[in-house]
Amino acid sequence: MKEFWSKRVRDMVPYVPGEQPKDRKFIKLNTNENPYPPSPKVLEAIKTTADDALRLYPDPECVILRQAIAAHACLNVDQVFCGNGSDEVLAFAFQAFFDKEYPITFPDITYSFYEVYVKYFDLTANLIPLNDDFSLPVERFVHEPAGGVVIANPNAPTGQAVTLDDLCRILEGNPEHVVIVDEAYVDFGCDSAVELIGEYSNLLVIQTASKSRSLAGLRVGWALGNTNLIAAMRCVRDSINSYTVDRVAQGAAVAAIRDAAYFEQTRRAIMSTREQTLERLKAFGLEGAPSQANFLFARHPSLPGKTVFQALRERGILVRRWDIPRIEDHLRISIGTEEEMDALCAALEEIVKDLTAK
Ligand SMILES: *Cc1c(COP(=O)(O)O)cnc(C)c1O
Repeated sequence: MKEFWSKRVRDMVPYVPGEQPKDRKFIKLNTNENPYPPSPKVLEAIKTTADDALRLYPDPECVILRQAIAAHACLNVDQVFCGNGSDEVLAFAFQAFFDKEYPITFPDITYSFYEVYVKYFDLTANLIPLNDDFSLPVERFVHEPAGGVVIANPNAPTGQAVTLDDLCRILEGNPEHVVIVDEAYVDFGCDSAVELIGEYSNLLVIQTASKSRSLAGLRVGWALGNTNLIAAMRCVRDSINSYTVDRVAQGAAVAAIRDAAYFEQTRRAIMSTREQTLERLKAFGLEGAPSQANFLFARHPSLPGKTVFQALRERGILVRRWDIPRIEDHLRISIGTEEEMDALCAALEEIVKDLTAK
């Protein structure tokens, strides 16, 4: 039933996002959304920009938004590129910097969109297995020949981060090719590679307003790097659709980025809830490494992940899991409000008791 489909599309296995339920109310801990609303200044900005925002085309260069991001990151405006969420920014970067002849390297267990883009853009990849404890085998990224490197830092879905020293070694090991550091979760406790941009002309850092600024629905993400890399990103965008980010999104994202106090408050609340939750999960037998992201990656040593996932779902709690070897028994649990995590811990404790008693 794929009549008329192009070859490229016929053979695609698209990315599958976490479920967005419509039928009933769940405690939703499955897509790493922020449990707190965006800054109140965001709603104000949406109201004040709405009139002209719809009638006029947006500013294709997102100048005011790029100024706000540049000020926050201590960079120049021409070191910033904005797109419709970091997924779009990643798609542009894959097209701007990678060629089929030279495989790009990324871990076997990471954000699954990378592999989808490799196929869709007709590229090739060299998947490097994470170590058994899900840490990054840094040496292989330093020494194996690569046409580019993509590293989520902290990594998804493991929540583990690499140090800036390790990133420097990877950047120095790949001087001829771009190293993309996807920092979707960097604000939850990991060092940002942004401070290395002046030193490494092959570094592209990608960030998003979706997670730490509670704006997943707005679709705003950005890339930070040397002006030469940013120019290539614009070249790709302007060859497809120069008006990517709409005016409402630009105005709202500016307000979110400028409200530093609210940002600090909410990201700290999430980090603190994360630490408490990990301790509680461990107390009733789950195993999970410390996380630098807004989620935990944990499993019960003797219970199948699928069974625990289903039992949680029946109790109205959605988490994420994958049918992938090595991680099939793990659950990725987004950090919600304290009340949501209370409900999660209560449900999990009950489920573990029930299932281990059998
Ligand atoms: C969520 C996520 C993204 C995409 O975020 P956008 O909403 O498209 O900005 C990119 N990379 C990783 C690793 C993510 O988890």
